[in-house]
Amino acid sequence: MQAFLHKQMRTPSPYCPICTNSFLPETAAHVLTCQHPSAIAACLTTLDQCIKIRCKSANTSPIILHCWDECLHCELGLPDKPQHHKFQHPPWIEAAVKEARQHQNIIGWNGFIRGIISSKWIHAQHLHLKAFPSKDPKHGKGWAYTSTKHILQLGIHSWKWRNEYIYGKTIQENRAKACKSVIVLMQIHHLSSLGFQLCMKSHLTYALPKAPDNCWHGFIT
Ligand SMILES: [Zn+2]
Repeated sequence: MQAFLHKQMRTPSPYCPICTNSFLPETAAHVLTCQHPSAIAACLTTLDQCIKIRCKSANTSPIILHCWDECLHCELGLPDKPQHHKFQHPPWIEAAVKEARQHQNIIGWNGFIRGIISSKWIHAQHLHLKAFPSKDPKHGKGWAYTSTKHILQLGIHSWKWRNEYIYGKTIQENRAKACKSVIVLMQIHHLSSLGFQLCMKSHLTYALPKAPDNCWHGFIT
């Protein structure tokens, strides 16, 4: 992340290189919640793939899927929240999902994305399979493991997307972007040294201009 690298003086700026206008330090949490339109679109696609498609294929209860989708939309700051849906399910399953949701609220949905998932979801899924038995013998066995694996993909996909967006997908793109970064760094260093020389000439060393933290973005855009 830029914020961490900036602390180590390995990048000129701690800000997110994608949503440059917001000037938000790029932390691990920000990678998932970046509000740049491209980042939002990528996150929505990933959410659909991980929750609506993969977790659904693991025969996850539709009430659980809807709950995860809704809560993750809020957690990730995504638009177009899923509309409230009335499921024709036994009330005891809905009650179990409600309990799991409340437990997850206490644990935190940020933790959910990182694999800290309430065990109460397993109970709710168990009730679902009891009421709607699956013909596939694979369903039910290892559901918690499979679902966790798909949920963790959310963060992994976001990280991969972020790196491809910044550094490119191919080696050629990567080299071209690296060259551009080197040129920008040289421009910054050149301007800084120019400012220093001007101050020295006018004996205003106390007014040595410091390159603003956001100059990185100014050159990039
Ligand atoms: Zn951002």
